[in-house]
Amino acid sequence: MDLGISGKRALVCASSKGLGRGCAEALAAAGVDLVMNARGAEALEATAETVRETQGVMVTTVAADITSNEGRAEVLDAAGAIDILVTNAGGPPPGLWSDWERDDFIAALDANMLTPIALMKACLPGMMERGWGRVVNITSQSVKAPIPVLGLSNSARAGLTGYVAGTARQVAGSGVTINNLLPGIHDTDRAIALDTGVVNTQGITMDEARAQRAATIPAGRYGTSEEFGAACAFLCSQHAGFIVGQNLLLDGGAVNATL
Ligand code: NAP
Repeated sequence: MDLGISGKRALVCASSKGLGRGCAEALAAAGVDLVMNARGAEALEATAETVRETQGVMVTTVAADITSNEGRAEVLDAAGAIDILVTNAGGPPPGLWSDWERDDFIAALDANMLTPIALMKACLPGMMERGWGRVVNITSQSVKAPIPVLGLSNSARAGLTGYVAGTARQVAGSGVTINNLLPGIHDTDRAIALDTGVVNTQGITMDEARAQRAATIPAGRYGTSEEFGAACAFLCSQHAGFIVGQNLLLDGGAVNATL
């Protein structure tokens, strides 16, 4: 399917690896020029070079922490006028409800709620003025079904979801859509980090931890970054202009709910 976005320009945050990389690669395959970001310059440059070589699109890189004011300013400055914004950052650490203090919540809110909000606030006016735009926020399955060890994620991402629900309906009339993608367990470094948490708390092997977590997914496996990226590219396509303020769960059926 021709997504109809060839020649558009996208900022994909936190995209040297994992789900962000999947989104960047799928957009590039649709002919979209990219601004890619991550903190580590080496992996970022390597991924950007692969995308340039395989897809032939223009890729600008900005090695910066997207959750800091300075890093965000640097990224936005390099991005300039963009048509597509994909927000993403690392997820909060696991723990117990009784572990977290105010500072832990502030850090999680900064990374997973206030950073995407600041990015949208910076990019939406230009998209609205130009009469076309797509925003996709990478959130989490935890928005639909809380994950006990990820209370910081449950909290911060719920706040972002509320903001998007209200804002998406205020910008849709200008040709701009905002939607959220909710990953369940995907095969990325983040999944390895969470598998390692299971290994440490339960004293089992990595293979056992992975099998245990995969068994909670009706599809019987972890998702892939490629599948995730394809969904992102569709939400950014011309065909998705009537999809507004939605939360699309990509979880292999793990959340056991009718709606
Ligand atoms: P990942 O494989 O660990 O990749 C994270 C990517 O983000 C890397 O490119 C990393 O590069 C970059 N990054 C992290 N923090 C950053 C920051 N502050 N500024 C700029 N770049 C940053 O993680 P993932 O699995 O793709 O997860 C992406 C998001 O989805 C996370 O918020 C995660 O919590 C959420 N999620 C993931 C899953 C899953 O199963 N994978 C499930 C639910 C939700 P640098 O480290 O070099 O910065």
